[in-house]
Amino acid sequence: MNDFTLNGQQNLILLVDDLATNLHVLVSALKTDFRLKTATSGASALMLMENKAELPKILILDVKMPGMSGIEVLSKMRNDPRLCDIPVILVSADASEKNELDGLNLGADDYLVKPISANTLIVRVQNLIQRNAERSKLRLASYVFNYSGEAIMITDSNNRILDVNSSFCKMTGYDKAQVLCKNPSILSAGRNTKEEYRVMWDTILTEGYWQGEIWDKRRDGTTYPKMLTISVVRDRTGGIEFYLASFVDISRYKDAEKRIKHLAHHDSLTELPNRLHLQVFLEQTMYIAQRKSERLAVMFLDLDRFKNINDTLGHPIGDTLLIQVATRLKRCMRTYDMVARLGGDEFVVVMRGRDVDSAAAKVAAKINQYLSEPFLIGTHTLRVSTSIGIAIYPDNAEKIDDLMKNADTAMYFAKEDGGNTFRFFLADMNKHAYEKLSMENQLYVALERKEFQLYYQLQLDDKGKPLGAEALIRWIHPERGMVSPMMFIPLAEEFGLILQIGHWVLEQACAQIKNWQENELTRHLILAVNVSARQFCLPDFSQEVQQIVLKHGINPALLKLEITESLLLKNIEDIISTMNELRLFGIQFSLDDFGTGYSCLQYLKRLPLNQLKIDKSFINDLATDANDVAIVRTIINMAKNMNLDVIAEGVETEKQRAILLSNGCTHFQGYLFSKPVPIEVFEILLKKLEA
Ligand code: C2E
Ligand code: CA
Ligand code: CA
Repeated sequence: MNDFTLNGQQNLILLVDDLATNLHVLVSALKTDFRLKTATSGASALMLMENKAELPKILILDVKMPGMSGIEVLSKMRNDPRLCDIPVILVSADASEKNELDGLNLGADDYLVKPISANTLIVRVQNLIQRNAERSKLRLASYVFNYSGEAIMITDSNNRILDVNSSFCKMTGYDKAQVLCKNPSILSAGRNTKEEYRVMWDTILTEGYWQGEIWDKRRDGTTYPKMLTISVVRDRTGGIEFYLASFVDISRYKDAEKRIKHLAHHDSLTELPNRLHLQVFLEQTMYIAQRKSERLAVMFLDLDRFKNINDTLGHPIGDTLLIQVATRLKRCMRTYDMVARLGGDEFVVVMRGRDVDSAAAKVAAKINQYLSEPFLIGTHTLRVSTSIGIAIYPDNAEKIDDLMKNADTAMYFAKEDGGNTFRFFLADMNKHAYEKLSMENQLYVALERKEFQLYYQLQLDDKGKPLGAEALIRWIHPERGMVSPMMFIPLAEEFGLILQIGHWVLEQACAQIKNWQENELTRHLILAVNVSARQFCLPDFSQEVQQIVLKHGINPALLKLEITESLLLKNIEDIISTMNELRLFGIQFSLDDFGTGYSCLQYLKRLPLNQLKIDKSFINDLATDANDVAIVRTIINMAKNMNLDVIAEGVETEKQRAILLSNGCTHFQGYLFSKPVPIEVFEILLKKLEA
């Protein structure tokens, strides 16, 4: 009774009788429980009901009235769609009249014979209201059934379809007639397993309810996923009377799900497939390759010096570069090859085919070439190069992880060989890679075991007079012999060990300066020491240097720290302030590998430098490349304008020296004069030069 409340003034009853005394009887019987309106003729009753907002819940209608009789009123109402549902109680003068009325079959809902007892009247009215409320509910239910956006299907206890609504027909493409009495399994797409259906029925029967996703087939054969809800409707004895199933087509949500999956499988920056996607793709492609006796090439790509760009120009530029790299990469590939991004500047390319080695070599060369064309980003023209490692399935490995690892190893070798090239994986590369790993471990104990040694490479002026040296570390490995710092310094940086190593180098270097300082012949020599960015960024780096200098009692002007451009734009203000502190203390600074980074001249002016060191890469081809001559000349002029010394490193030939000299270079270092050598050898060399 919740919606159609009996008490409360909501339920309006219209009483129609031509006699005031009769009306009075009805009113006094009903007034406490209902809201009442009265009319004294059929015509005025109909007029009152013109007001749509005030339609009565029930009409109590006298049969015999002058003018329009109750019968006429009733028949008019039943023919009026607006009024036909209003229950009517006819009130007749005697029982014989009632029989007559039955015969007319006008659709009155109840009859009362005068005289009417108040109690009977109330009970009848209440019953009628209740019945009508239930009817409304059924009407509502049938409305819901017919117009619901959800497809609804009712089946009997044997699971045969009893009824379906119009949404059902729309969604499935079946007419009602085509499905009546059928088992709903005619809808199945056959995609769900027997076991899934079994679990569904178990749940329906034990819980009386089940909800889940099911794949169905439309009449035209197309399949779609639906969200299905099934409830059991039981009769009074608890037996199953119906199953009520409702469902909606969820293809659209599935599409959204697909999009989410796409996101999970794609890198959001470049839109390339990501690591997860690559993994799935490789699994499938390996399987296909196996069956077709084809092979796969997995290529690992890594941009050379990308970190440098990111650090100096900022991440937005780095990101834009990666997007452009991705676009170029896709252009190098056939549609059925895959390009994925693993993260950072690491990309993977997968190719399939019979002659996959030569195809991969061609593609790799193309990629090397394509990516070395300059990139225009904002106002910057950026040059990058790529190192590529290639591993072949099944030749190099049969498992995805091993294949990827081998491609990565090959890439590492491409990088070691100077970058901008590709390397195929070779079996003994793993041995090298393993050695690298074991080297990491040995690096940790190398300091304690005193396996490091400083070598000294002569620096001299334009007249060949010794100015000093650059201290270059060597690792004398017990089994391997001398290991190049190119090999272990990056490792040490990675593991933070560079801090201890750097400290040791400074100690050694200052001890050596002390030694030279004591001797008339060598007291002017300046020793240049390489400082790693990581070491320089330590908050107490300045303190550390000053303490070591003081401890050895040396002239700070004899110590020159070589820093690299990549350090510069990290936290430029901190770096400048550390440099200023050390400069005030008397230490000198040289900017190493100058020209290879991307540092901005604006910043350069603010650095308290003493020297620019032209990178070896500009010296190499000086004799043959006019561009390099121009660059070198520009650097030298710039240094002079900024009041800085300029030194060329990696000078190997007399010709290079001559070109440098004619362009105004004043300081030199390189194999032409001396390789880095142990201190004893260096001192012999000095004596020779003085002589
Ligand atoms: P770098 O500072 O640019 O050092 C110059 C490198 O060029 C040295 O290699 C040197 O042996 C080499 N070189 C000098 N003249 C010539 C030449 O005429 N021709 C050729 N082909 N090469 C020449 P090295 O000693 O192997 O050092 C490599 C790098 O390792 C250094 O590059 C520096 O970045 C790093 N390194 C060396 N010692 C230290 C150190 O004590 N601390 C730190 N943090 N890094 C160091
Ligand atoms: Ca250096
Ligand atoms: Ca250098």
